[in-house]
Amino acid sequence: MVLSERVEPYDHFVLDLDGCVWVGDEATAGAAQAIGALRGAGKRIVFVTNDPRRATEDYVAKLWSLGVRASVDDVVTVGGATQRLLHETRSGSTAFVIGTESMRRHVADAGLRVLNGTDLAAGAQVVVVAGTDHLGLDDLRIATLALRRGGDLVATSRDPTYPSADGLVPGTGALLAAVEYASGVTATIVGKPEPELFATALDRLGEGRTLAVGDSIDADVAAAAKAGVDAALVLTGGTTAEEAEEAGEPRPLYVADSLAELVLGGAPYS
Ligand SMILES: [Mg+2]
Repeated sequence: MVLSERVEPYDHFVLDLDGCVWVGDEATAGAAQAIGALRGAGKRIVFVTNDPRRATEDYVAKLWSLGVRASVDDVVTVGGATQRLLHETRSGSTAFVIGTESMRRHVADAGLRVLNGTDLAAGAQVVVVAGTDHLGLDDLRIATLALRRGGDLVATSRDPTYPSADGLVPGTGALLAAVEYASGVTATIVGKPEPELFATALDRLGEGRTLAVGDSIDADVAAAAKAGVDAALVLTGGTTAEEAEEAGEPRPLYVADSLAELVLGGAPYS
């Protein structure tokens, strides 16, 4: 398959998963063919997601189920990016984690001692907040105590909601708002629109010209600008063509109906 002129000049691609490669449990039309065409032309791809709830292996499995080859090295979750940041800046510290089991594992793998479930938790040096479907008032209480005793606050994003089968449900940002409000401490944010997630992806890709592709101006295009890479916007997720047209700075370099349209142009792919 012939690549479009828009993507041909790039060596590497950072592809947002939700709203770009897939929507819910379905791949966007032609996504697997587009990714195959990029790889066939020798391009390297890293997939990224701001969702901290699941492990990297879960996203790899979902990619395979949608017809896309992938290994754990090809996927950077915001949990993985948080692990990188904590490893570089807070290795050896103690931590209290609001988040899923896989998020706690990322924090432990970064070299921090996770105090969840111990009597020492309210004295943790770092509080990490990431989206979870299981949050108790005790979690908010311990996080607040630790922060008011001088702990640092790190969060995966300020995303207010996540999509679910029932509609929008509270995201990391909703939990973080409670923690920040009670503690008076402002978090360091790892995920989009901050650049750390993309920086972790760029680290994996190495030298080369990179295009980031995602469905959100506020998240993907903003994070790409901060990370210093070009961005393309696809309209398969949360952004309409009108919103793309009216967007202020930073603007995407390209706007396409879908990942497949961006990569393959008008070529038939289904
Ligand atoms: Mg997205």
